[in-house]
Formats: sequence, structure tokens, C-alpha cells
Amino acid sequence: MRKILAILMAMLVSTFAFANDGKKHKLKLASTWEGTTPVLGDAVKNFKTYVEDMSGGRIEIRIDYPSKHKSSFGILDFVKSGQYDLGYTASYYYKGKDPKTMFFTALPFGMTPAELHAWYEFGGGKELEAKVYDKHNIKVFSAGDTGTQMGGWFKKEIKSVDDLKGLKVRIPGFGGEVMAKIGSIINTIPTGELYMALEMGTIDAVEWVSPAFDMGLGFHKVAKYYYTGWQEPSAQTQFFVNKKVYQKLPDDLKAIIETASSRVASELYAKAYFDNINFWSKMKSEFPGIEIKSFPDDVMAALKNAANEILDQEAAKDPLFKEILDSQRSFLAKAREWTKISEFAYIQKASK
Ligand code: CA
Repeated sequence: MRKILAILMAMLVSTFAFANDGKKHKLKLASTWEGTTPVLGDAVKNFKTYVEDMSGGRIEIRIDYPSKHKSSFGILDFVKSGQYDLGYTASYYYKGKDPKTMFFTALPFGMTPAELHAWYEFGGGKELEAKVYDKHNIKVFSAGDTGTQMGGWFKKEIKSVDDLKGLKVRIPGFGGEVMAKIGSIINTIPTGELYMALEMGTIDAVEWVSPAFDMGLGFHKVAKYYYTGWQEPSAQTQFFVNKKVYQKLPDDLKAIIETASSRVASELYAKAYFDNINFWSKMKSEFPGIEIKSFPDDVMAALKNAANEILDQEAAKDPLFKEILDSQRSFLAKAREWTKISEFAYIQKASK
């Protein structure tokens, strides 16, 4: 008995010794967003705190914001090349480099946060994401979802597909491609100039995020129609880790990074929801003239068809793109049946 105990103790000690390499790992992290950005700014700071606390200081993280590294959308390249060890960003910003990256943030007419989360954790999403990012030398962790986005601020009401033709809209990424396909003119005006552009009529509409993120930019003061969304039914963010850096970490530190990401992810979704509740409540009472609108059914159908056409074209070029698209589509078809009779039915019936 004593002998067994001694062996067990020895095993425990050796496992611990193996886990703790006794080194201090100083890691540099590049963030897409400034530390002052609502919700996201705190998330990256919390990640640093959790990792440093859990590792007892064996990992030290230095965060660089865009004001320093000058490239909000260069995070994939930074981490891939090893210029930075870690990154905090949203996968779909790298659609131009690799169209498959967008599936892990948001897809127009795609899944809600709950549906996407279920697919990601248990429906094969995580594995498909690893396949995509392996090629970029990156280990990726979900960093949480900012939730269902609004469709944007419009100065004029949209009554038909024709109303979208020739409309000057600021909407980035894939949503912008979809609107361009049905005839809107897509602008890429820098954030700081958006309010003025909307006020002056350089643009007729701007798609941003949701009340917590939109209110500070003041769009509601110059455009009274706040449309419900279609383009980003969820918006998942990510932590990137350079694969070589990750592989060299002892197992306990790897687990700490994963655990910290997961804590940040669950807090981020709750915080975004919490802030949206409060900012919308404030916006609504301070600006009672805001009108909530949804696009008519034929406009939604036109946007959906345009999105599917672009996706199918891309899928024909790349088997892995097709594999992910098929996986999301079939999961969504099944998941939506459940969402409809659970949360959706509850809200429809219980909030009357
Ligand atoms: Ca958006």
C-alpha cells in the first residue's frame, strides 16, 4: 500500500514538474479594437488578467492596440508570421485572404448566437475552424459573441428592392457584397467620418452593430429608421495564438489560455446583451422619434438569394469552403426547427 502511495506521489510530482517549465513566457498580443471600444476593449483586458492570474505570473501579456500597431485588420498576418504571439479580432475580417474565415464570425441569414454556439462547440464547427486556421499557422479560440446585429440606420424608409438600388450604404464585408449585388452603392468611409457623411448625405445609410456600439457614434440623431438585421445574426470574436508559440507552452499554460478564452467568451456575450438592453432603453427614451423597421419580405428574399448565389459560387471553387457551408446549412435547418418552438415561440406568446 505504502509503495503504491509512494509511486502515486512520485507520479504526481513528475507530472507537476513537467507541467511547470519554470519559465516566464512574455507574450505580445495585437488587438483589432482599441481598449476604449465598448465591450470588446474590456474583453481583451480581462483575458490578460485571467491568464496572468491563473498562471501565477508565468505568462505575461502585453497588449498592443491599433493606435500602436496601426493595423486593425492585420491581426491574422501578425500572428501567422510570429510578429505577435497572440491576437484578438473577428475572423471575418480576413475574408479577403481566406473566404472560409467568415463562417466563424457571421454569415448573412445564418445562425443566431445560440445556434452558432451549439454548432461551434458540438456540431463540428471547432474542428472545421481548426482545419482553416492550421493552414495559417494559428491556434484559434472563440472569444465570444457580440450578439444579433441591427440592419443599420437609414434616412429613408425601404419599401421595395428598388429603394435599395443606387442607395449609398456603408456596410462592410460580405453584407456589403450582398447589397452591391442587388444594386446598392457600397462605401468604405472611415469610422470617424461616418456621422458627418450620413448627415451631409454622402451616404444614405450606415450598418454598424447594435445600440451599445452605435449610440456613441450618434447615427440616431441624423437617421431615424433603425432596421432589424439580416447580415450578422451573430458576431463571434476570436483569440489567435501563433501555433509554434502555443505548442511550446507547457500543458497547464495551454489549458489556462483555453480556459481564460472561454471565460471571456461567456462574459462578452452577457456584457454585450446587458449593454444593448441599457443603451436601447436610453436611446428610446431620449430619442422617441426613432422608428424600428424591418425590410419587407421581398427585400429580405432578394438579399437572401444574393447571399446564397455568392456563397454557392465560392463553394464551387473550394472543397473546404463547401464542406463548412454544407455543415452550417444543414445544422441551421435542424436547429431552426427547435429555435422556432422554444425561444421564438416563447417570446411571441409570452411578451404580449
Ligand atoms: Ca456590423
